[in-house]
Amino acid sequence: MRFELDTIGVIHSPYQEKFGIPRQPALAPSAPVTLELLPPYNQPDCVRGLEAFSHVWLSFVFHETAARGWQPLVRPPRLGGNAKVGVFASRATHRPNALGLSLVELKGIDTSTGVTLQLAGADLLDGTPVLDIKPYIPFVEARPEARGGFVDGPPPQLTVQWSPRARADLASWADTPPWLAALIDEVLAQDPRPAYQDDPARVYGIRLAHCDVRFGVQGDVVTVLEIVTPA
Ligand code: SAM
Repeated sequence: MRFELDTIGVIHSPYQEKFGIPRQPALAPSAPVTLELLPPYNQPDCVRGLEAFSHVWLSFVFHETAARGWQPLVRPPRLGGNAKVGVFASRATHRPNALGLSLVELKGIDTSTGVTLQLAGADLLDGTPVLDIKPYIPFVEARPEARGGFVDGPPPQLTVQWSPRARADLASWADTPPWLAALIDEVLAQDPRPAYQDDPARVYGIRLAHCDVRFGVQGDVVTVLEIVTPA
């Protein structure tokens, strides 16, 4: 069987590129994300009652990588980037049908013009097409006794420090979003480097909220070196 699916909405997020996006939702709760519903789904009736739920499941398409296809075996970053597991034992982006599923916090719903959901902590690229929204039902879906396979527990975090230059860069930008410094801390603490990379001399860059955040990693300390803000 083949199916044709409709995009019901589009994500607006501070993540302008794949690199740096946390590998799961809730790891960077400061990321303000909105989901703008598209016609004919952008009617208040479609979300009536949803505001009573604190969290929602989003089904979406890994649109940026979908065209690259899939492989039966993948190398999850949590296993160091070398060991392989089956694609269906992973949350890898390169998978049949390129479907993603994220549990995100629902902060509010704006129905003043169309319908926009205010979300927190999503692990989604700006422009991600969303296929469906479902409320999260804790009494059936929260299973603290469940086995987590090779991702049993949160990943180790890096300590984040800021250079005086990076602090000054952010302070000198007239339009600094109030959440940006916290988001940079949360994103870099996740160690966004590819699993096999450990080069203390290397300067990395992440596009975040239209800024270029440059950083280096030595041991378990990440240093924000410079932030190039929009002109
Ligand atoms: N929570 C979802 C899941 O389990 O299906 C996504 C997990 S996936 C490992 C998270 C990664 O997907 C992010 O770190 C980012 O690199 C990537 N990503 C997010 N949005 C994407 C998009 N629209 N297209 C391609 N890759 C995307």
